[in-house]
Amino acid sequence: MTRATKSSSKKLAPPQTLSAAKRKLALAGVPATQARKIAASEPVAPKNKRGRTVKPLAPERVSAILDALRRTYPNVVCALTHHNAFELTIATALSAQTTDVTVNKVTPELFRLFPTPKKLAEAPLAAIEEIIHPTGFYRAKAKNIKGAAQVLVERFHSEVPQTIEELTQLPGVARKTANVVLGSWFGIASGVVVDTHVQRISRRLELTKQEEPVKIEKDLMKVLPQDRWIQYSHEIIHHGRQVCVARKPRCADCSLERECNAEDKTWTSH
Ligand code: SF4
Repeated sequence: MTRATKSSSKKLAPPQTLSAAKRKLALAGVPATQARKIAASEPVAPKNKRGRTVKPLAPERVSAILDALRRTYPNVVCALTHHNAFELTIATALSAQTTDVTVNKVTPELFRLFPTPKKLAEAPLAAIEEIIHPTGFYRAKAKNIKGAAQVLVERFHSEVPQTIEELTQLPGVARKTANVVLGSWFGIASGVVVDTHVQRISRRLELTKQEEPVKIEKDLMKVLPQDRWIQYSHEIIHHGRQVCVARKPRCADCSLERECNAEDKTWTSH
């Protein structure tokens, strides 16, 4: 697989080089007791009369949030199982409206039978549908991933391209999937992955007031240093799965608690 060569965007070492044990650890994050210690070492974000943070985008506050995230989720990586850019592209496209766990259950068989863009492009639609059925919306997804494989073969010599503009030419690949592939496989920070967790938690942390993913991404690209674009999403996604869940966030176990003045906090130290 060809790695990133020339790009004006920021490139980082791909995290797939982590050993299986380290990968498991990275996916888990630190225990709640350690998260509380991290929170206790962070400054308290002052609130205004309406309970919102006085200067939510102040560089020192953003740094404190990023620092706490890094300490809580060291070396965190993408949870989708993959061995190359092609597999990651397809796995990410399949992950819409379902969990990474479900995707990881179907992709071994999918890539065993159709390991290359050419094989997937030539695969019978019904065979793809049967394999990916558990991921939901399987008819549309099967059509998209077969179509994506066809585009890879026809326009990109069966190689996954390394720009947002090219990646989004693939059926079923929008900015989010393109950012996942560029960041997690190629180590290219072209944008910020905005999924449901990044959307919810970036708003809770007052890093954006926007609601649409594209606008949220624009805000995050302004407020976060580019060399944290990739890891921020990984860390926040894990934080959203484990602690800052949609309903009843576990604020008492949150390492960002002192920086957070979210309206729906369930516990506060200040
Ligand atoms: S809402 Fe609660 S869990 Fe989420 S970031 Fe704020 S303090 Fe942490």
